[in-house]
Amino acid sequence: MMGLEGPRSNVVARYRGKRGRPTLHVSAHIDTAAIQEGGWTVDPLGGEVTRESPYGVSPYDRGGGYIWGRGVSDDKGECVALVFALEALHELGVELEGDLILTGNCDEEIGGVAGLGYLIREGIVKADYGVQLDGSLTGIGLAAQGRTRFMVCTFGRSYHGQLPILGVNAIEKMSKINVALNDYWRNVLLRRQRAVPGIELPSALREVGIEKLTAMLNIGTIRGGVQGATVPDRCEEEVLRGMIPGETFEDMRDEFISVIEGVKATDADLEYEVEVINVREGYVMSPEHPYIQGARGIIKEVLDRELPFTGTLASTDMNYQVNDGGMPCFNLGVGGPYSNGHKQDENVAIDEIVELSKIVALLVMRKLGTKNRRFFPS
Ligand SMILES: [Zn+2]
Repeated sequence: MMGLEGPRSNVVARYRGKRGRPTLHVSAHIDTAAIQEGGWTVDPLGGEVTRESPYGVSPYDRGGGYIWGRGVSDDKGECVALVFALEALHELGVELEGDLILTGNCDEEIGGVAGLGYLIREGIVKADYGVQLDGSLTGIGLAAQGRTRFMVCTFGRSYHGQLPILGVNAIEKMSKINVALNDYWRNVLLRRQRAVPGIELPSALREVGIEKLTAMLNIGTIRGGVQGATVPDRCEEEVLRGMIPGETFEDMRDEFISVIEGVKATDADLEYEVEVINVREGYVMSPEHPYIQGARGIIKEVLDRELPFTGTLASTDMNYQVNDGGMPCFNLGVGGPYSNGHKQDENVAIDEIVELSKIVALLVMRKLGTKNRRFFPS
């Protein structure tokens, strides 16, 4: 259920430059969101290519078509862009001065603890600059919310379902908790915000009045009971709590538990447990940082348009680069609203992958330096 069974695999590669510095860490994740059983109109692992997408048009579409399947926009397209960028540098014989570190991280979708979190905390990956290939080509990602995954379990007493008066129903108990959690997030958390000057949030959020990073909560799964004729003695659910940068884990956890304690105060039979699955912190990178300003220039050179600095209420592995690795960093990727990321019929414009490849190649050359004359004729 936690998705952490068996060994985890990360991919780490290092190109040693002539001087060995500076160092640039380019990161992408190799896991994907789960594949829904129904609702796909294509084979989610088929890699089909079509001319158009019925879900919309990419602003970078120059006729290269759309590729379909789970992960094409998140984050396989980004992995492919990285591979093609390196392939191009290799074919052109570019020799770099600084070191390039590449990682393909596992487990991003479930928090990245065993993925990039592990690689950075163990000191396997250390760099002066970072880029996280995850996101889109609509903005340069500089800020994200954190999140904590909670497992909440309620306990009851089984009985024959036609005599429920003699049992304690764990699903009923969980329902009370969920009414309280729903009230808590809509009336308390939605008012907890942090402004991020110079950084835009997605238009879908601005349209519903969310202009700042905002604390949130999602009841993501629920399961309990075996059949209608039995009073369930156990119910469990996963709750994801979106944290704004600056909210501390301890305060957030204590507040979460106090909401459930509030229910318990009105129901002496309520028995529950709360477990923390994992925590990912939020971050805000300054748009004024020289590395960020330089990267924005490189992106503009390739795309011929200036991308805004953006923030997200979701998250990427970039928190490990910024908070644990101390790297100035931004995130960029492929796909847009038409891409159905994490949903059925995920697709992405192949031209976006090409554009991202060019950006990565140019960033690597500019940041790590190359004396090859042909690329920088005087
Ligand atoms: Zn992703």
